[in-house]
Amino acid sequence: MAFLWFIIGAILGSFYLVVGTRVPKKEDFITSRSKCDYCQKELRWFELIPVISYVIQLGKCRNCGKRISPSYLFMEVITGLLFLIGFLYYGMSISYYIYLVSISLALIIFVSDFKYMVILDSTLVIASIILLVLRYFEVGIQGTLYSCLYGLILFIIMFLIRLLGNFLFKKDSLGGGDIKLAIYMGILLGYYNYGLRLGIIAIMFSAFLALPYALVSLYLNKKNELPYGPFLISAAIIVFVFIDKFKNLLILFSL
Ligand SMILES: [Zn+2]
Repeated sequence: MAFLWFIIGAILGSFYLVVGTRVPKKEDFITSRSKCDYCQKELRWFELIPVISYVIQLGKCRNCGKRISPSYLFMEVITGLLFLIGFLYYGMSISYYIYLVSISLALIIFVSDFKYMVILDSTLVIASIILLVLRYFEVGIQGTLYSCLYGLILFIIMFLIRLLGNFLFKKDSLGGGDIKLAIYMGILLGYYNYGLRLGIIAIMFSAFLALPYALVSLYLNKKNELPYGPFLISAAIIVFVFIDKFKNLLILFSL
């Protein structure tokens, strides 16, 4: 069963890579995975088996011999492993499905935000709707409405942080996508006890996660804009997965 979830993750992983790289450029993404990036030759079914095809073909196209981007292999393995680890941690449960949706959203954000500094509205909307449906099955309509409310509150908090940042740094501090992502984070964390505080902790935690990357990219002086979405969603998922530990921290410091 765990192995099956690895396979599902590996198949979805290359799909997420395609969504994250093609949709921001408005390219067709339904069929593009099934073609070679260079010679456009249609791939046969046995060339589309995650991980295995790549290894058997030694990372090269069977037709033109050009190197297949190793990012496919990387995404397949990472997504498969994250699905597998989640299954071992949660077992079959609504929490596991909520974890899967969040991981999927995170992976697409990693690709599109690092590559183009973009968080796709469409993926945010789809992920939020699936999350709300899962929440409904978990806690019913009242809990779902509360989740929506917390999504809205966290959105407003992020918006205020942005205003403050713009005032302090005299330029756009947070992208629109980062602020919209706060809605998803609010829905994800808000329902639980201490939900709003957990959401705020996730935002603070994301700054902590982003700091090493920000320092390195500042040091290398490549650009002073950094994609913030990956750090936000990673922090939210870490808080969600270890929610009891974070709650205990809140109690410990009587926050
Ligand atoms: Zn080719």
